[in-house]
Amino acid sequence: MFTSIAGRAVVVTGGTRGIGKGIASVFARNGAKVLITGRDSDTARAAAEELHAQAAAAGPPGEVSFVLADVSSREDCRRMAAIAWERLGGIDVLCANAGIFPEARIEDLTEEDLDQVLAVNLKGAVFSVQACLPALAASGRGRVILTSSITGPITGFPGWTHYGASKAGQLGFMRTAAIELAPKGITVNAVLPGNIVTEGLASLGDNYASGTTAAIPMGRLGTVDEIGYTALFLATDEAAYITGQSIVVDGGQVLPESPDAVAADPA
Ligand code: NAP
Repeated sequence: MFTSIAGRAVVVTGGTRGIGKGIASVFARNGAKVLITGRDSDTARAAAEELHAQAAAAGPPGEVSFVLADVSSREDCRRMAAIAWERLGGIDVLCANAGIFPEARIEDLTEEDLDQVLAVNLKGAVFSVQACLPALAASGRGRVILTSSITGPITGFPGWTHYGASKAGQLGFMRTAAIELAPKGITVNAVLPGNIVTEGLASLGDNYASGTTAAIPMGRLGTVDEIGYTALFLATDEAAYITGQSIVVDGGQVLPESPDAVAADPA
C-alpha cells in the first residue's frame, strides 16, 4: 500500500483539458488539493467545478480550483506559484504538463511556429519549475513531473520536428535539474505518453487516431487516467529515490520494429 497523498498541494499546468485534467482528477480523487491552470476561463472554471465534484464524491477531502496563467510568460508562472502558495498552503507537486502540438513540415516551418512551440513546451516547463522552486523546496518532499512525449525523445512523426525538439529538450532540462534539486529533496521525472485520447489529439482527426492505433501493440489509444496514475506514483513517498528518469506509457507503441511486428488479433 502506498502512503496516501491526501492533503498534498499539487499544481497542474494545462490542467483544464486532456492529460492535465486527467492528472488533476487522479490527484484530487486521492485527496490532494489541486490548482489547475490554462488560458481559457470558461474551460478552466468548468473543469475545476467538474473535478471538485468528482473529488468530493471519491471520499478523501480533495479539492480543485483554477488560475488563468500562460506558461510561456514568466510573470504568469510566478503569479500561479504565488496563488498556489496562498490558496493551497504550499506546493508539494508540480505537474508541468501544458503543451501544444501544431503541425508544420520543415519546409513550411516559420520562425514564429518554432518560437511558439518552444515557448510553451520547453520554456513553459522551465518557467513553471523556476516559479514553484521555493515552495517545492519548503515542502521537503517536492516533486516535479514533466509531461514529455514519445515523440522527440524516442520516435519521430512528420510535421512535428519543432514539437519533438521541445519534448526532447524537456528531458535535457530534467536531467540537470534533477542533479541541482536533489539536495533540496526535490525529484524531477518525466512521463512520456504515447497517443492518449484528449481534446488535443481529437483535433488531429480520425485518420491520425486510426493510423496510430494500428501501430500500438495493445490495439488502443491510452486514457488520461493512465497518465494520471503514473504521475501519482512518481509523487508518492515510495518514489522518493527515483529522479531524472522517464517512464513511457504507450501501450507498447515504441516497441515494434515494423508494422508486421504488431501482433494480429488471434481471434
Ligand atoms: P490538450 O487536450 O490540447 O490540452 C492542453 C492543455 O494545456 C489545456 O488545458 C490548455 O488550456 C493548456 N495550455 C495550452 N497552452 C497553454 C499555455 N501557453 N499556457 C497554459 N496552458 C496552456 O492537450 P493534451 O493532448 O492533453 O496534451 C497535454 C500534454 O501532453 C502536452 O504537453 C502534450 O505535448 C503532451 N502529450 C500529449 C499526447 C497525446 O496523445 N494527447 C501524447 C504525448 C504527449 P488553454 O488552451 O485554455 O490554455
